[in-house]
Amino acid sequence: MPTIFTHLAVPVAATVALGSRRIPPGALAAGVLASIAPDFDGIAFHLGIAYGGMTGHRGFTHTVLFALLFGLLGGWLAPRWRMRRVAGYAWIMLCTLSHPLLDMMTNGGAGIALFWPLDSVHHFLAWRPIEVSPLSLKRLLSLRGVQVARSELRNVWAPLMAAGLLVWAARHRRGAQSKR
Ligand SMILES: [Zn+2]
Repeated sequence: MPTIFTHLAVPVAATVALGSRRIPPGALAAGVLASIAPDFDGIAFHLGIAYGGMTGHRGFTHTVLFALLFGLLGGWLAPRWRMRRVAGYAWIMLCTLSHPLLDMMTNGGAGIALFWPLDSVHHFLAWRPIEVSPLSLKRLLSLRGVQVARSELRNVWAPLMAAGLLVWAARHRRGAQSKR
């Protein structure tokens, strides 16, 4: 898995792209939580539930089905963020879904049963530029951790933030033109 910090890149870059009027701070905070929520199954992992089973790490919480269900929270909270319910649903659903997709880009681990229960194959994407991060904090703070952080900065944060800033710039140019 990538480290938890890398999952935050998706809601942060999306908020840069869409602007804080469309994604207000409350929605951003919830999106950040949604992007890391699937890894709360790591708690089950530490309780000794087998790796690879649907109840273990990278199980049910790493499926499309989970993202579709978790999105409902966004639909429910949307009025607080002054968003339409369907937009709040889509926002939280997509932030959640980005998690297993990023996990599928790591070069190690168990793969992701994205389409469970339709199919229980553990998938990876063909393109896997993200170094698998060590599970233990001690190793994460070692040289290996530095390599992981470098690969995440280069392969996740840099392209996502670049894309976010491009969309932001395009929006502002359009806005400036229409004011003239
Ligand atoms: Zn994960």
